[in-house]
Amino acid sequence: MNLGLSDKVVIVTAASRGLGKATALQFAREGAHVAVNARDAERLAAAAAECETLSGKAALAVAGDVTRQADVARIVGETLDRFGRIDVLVTNAGGPPAGLFTGLSVEQWEAACQLTLLSAVRLIQAVVPTMQAQQSGSIVSINSMTVKQPIPGLTLSNAIRDAVHGLVKTLSQELAADGIRVNSVLPGWTRTERVDEILAFRAANGGLSEAEVEASITRDIPLGRLGRAEELANAVVFVASPAAGYITGVALQVDGGMIRGKL
Ligand code: NAD
Repeated sequence: MNLGLSDKVVIVTAASRGLGKATALQFAREGAHVAVNARDAERLAAAAAECETLSGKAALAVAGDVTRQADVARIVGETLDRFGRIDVLVTNAGGPPAGLFTGLSVEQWEAACQLTLLSAVRLIQAVVPTMQAQQSGSIVSINSMTVKQPIPGLTLSNAIRDAVHGLVKTLSQELAADGIRVNSVLPGWTRTERVDEILAFRAANGGLSEAEVEASITRDIPLGRLGRAEELANAVVFVASPAAGYITGVALQVDGGMIRGKL
């Protein structure tokens, strides 16, 4: 299948490692111009260089923090200056910290809202005028399976990612007349550096080996293993692409079957 992404201009935030980086690299393999963002300029430059190697097209690295309005404006502004249009925005950021409700402060709730919800709001606000002028565009939010099935101890994610889901669903209707599709992809347990860190943390605190911690997670996953970042990236790239031109407003779970609900 030709996804129709050759020479398209794609922004992927939080892309110096993990799901964001894997997604940027898959867009590059499809021949897109990729603008990547993260806070760590050195790792980000390496990710952009990998994109250029894979695509044979110019890529762009814009260091910045997606919780800061000025940085978001710069990410979008530099992409427009360099490539003149924006076809795809993938909103992604680091995950909010784990914690039970009784252990979380209001300050932690506010920080998580900035990181998970308001970063997406700011990024989408910044690209929509361009996409409306183009009368085309595609926005995909990397969200979480916690939208459909809460995970004990991930209180902030369980609550705030639903707001992102509501935003995506609302925008899919509001922006459809401008030729803009808005979707989200919901990762389940997918192996990244962050997940490796979580496994190591749980092992150290639970007196288990990392393999035992992993087995306790994969027991609940019908496919019996963690996902690969490339598998999540493939879903994002497809749903963002012109090949998915009639798909808008979906929350596509990529979770090895872990969500048991029917919808
Ligand atoms: P990761 O920690 O491996 O990578 C996160 C990336 O975000 C890094 O590049 C980091 O530099 C960047 N980043 C963090 N805060 C940022 C900020 N304020 N501004 C710009 N860049 C920032 O995480 P991951 O596993 O790739 O997960 C990505 C997202 O998907 C997270 O929100 C995570 O909670 C969510 N998620 C992941 C999984 C999983 O199993 N990997 C499952 C469900 C949801």
